[in-house]
Amino acid sequence: MEPLGPSSDWLPQAACQGIDPELFYSTSPPKVARARGICDRCFVQPQCLLAADRLEHGLGVKMVHGIWGGLTADERIVRRRVLDEILLWEAAGRGIVGEMARPQDA
Ligand code: SF4
Repeated sequence: MEPLGPSSDWLPQAACQGIDPELFYSTSPPKVARARGICDRCFVQPQCLLAADRLEHGLGVKMVHGIWGGLTADERIVRRRVLDEILLWEAAGRGIVGEMARPQDA
């Protein structure tokens, strides 16, 4: 499997192509703001966030550093928690969670 997902065709469209990667791994607030500004006008931001999700999921509790998809590592963790909560609520609304919690009743 490709480290950035099933396809990394989107990479040539990245707005950060040709920009010093150091900018995206700095903790300096002005540099972080500049990196976010580049991400904000990047056409492949969703693909970039999904790639970060895949990498970070594969690393378990560790995380990928730097700005990906306009978000810091901590922001991506919060984003994933919110998405997980939404999926759980949706599953509960369809009765999936209830069905999964009742196998001993069968
Ligand atoms: S969203 Fe991702 S691919 Fe696009 S500029 Fe930001 S870091 Fe680069």
